[in-house]
Amino acid sequence: MQDYSNEYERQKAEYKEIFTEAAKVIRQEIDKFKPNYDCRSCTIPCDIQKPDIFSVFPPNCPYAAWQIKSLGYLTNEYKAKIIASKRNIMAKKSEYSCAKCGACCKLAVSGNSPMQFKQKALRGDKLAREWLSIYVPYESEEIAEAICPDFYNKLKDFMDPDERLYFYYCSKLGADDKCTIYENRPDMCKNFPMSPIKILPDTCSYLAWTNSVKKLAMSIKAREDLIAFYKEKIG
Ligand code: SF4
Ligand code: SF4
Repeated sequence: MQDYSNEYERQKAEYKEIFTEAAKVIRQEIDKFKPNYDCRSCTIPCDIQKPDIFSVFPPNCPYAAWQIKSLGYLTNEYKAKIIASKRNIMAKKSEYSCAKCGACCKLAVSGNSPMQFKQKALRGDKLAREWLSIYVPYESEEIAEAICPDFYNKLKDFMDPDERLYFYYCSKLGADDKCTIYENRPDMCKNFPMSPIKILPDTCSYLAWTNSVKKLAMSIKAREDLIAFYKEKIG
């Protein structure tokens, strides 16, 4: 059985590098708006020595306006660029089609327990509703592993060991490994995989797509994570 733990470590290190680079680029973008204001001539009471984007500025400080402008830029114009990149990635996916191997129907993994899915569905979450309409939890992880050993091990190798995972199978998969409701399958099946950083079975025909766009997808994720961080810190 293939061991993916080295690949997982390699991708983690690659993401760290991409994240560092993205953080640098965002800083450069934000610094373009930074006012060249000399704090020594300021009469507003304040003990900030070196203005930084994460400093807590007093109202009316020119650097406070810089923070607001930066956050506006990141959550609007910069976000729009990210959305455009995402669209390009998803457009590339249409060059590939499902090989109908059934692997993603036999084993699906989620951080959500059946109860969490039910709660989300009650709150109107479409994906949770669709999930509950087809997926059934495996009675045990051992059974999931015995039925889909390769994909199960791949998922485990790529997941954080401390993360609690729940394994499911689709009740609509026929004995011939074909979907019994193919024409009426939920959107989540039609759109699978919804992200290029999803871990896929080795038999999945979308692997070629994810491999071709993975680096860009990681860069997008890094930039989205950074925007969320900026929002939390200065929003
Ligand atoms: S509904 Fe059909 S396509 Fe979707 S997971 Fe089930 S068997 Fe697969
Ligand atoms: S694993 Fe990939 S190729 Fe196989 S059924 Fe799912 S989407 Fe299609």
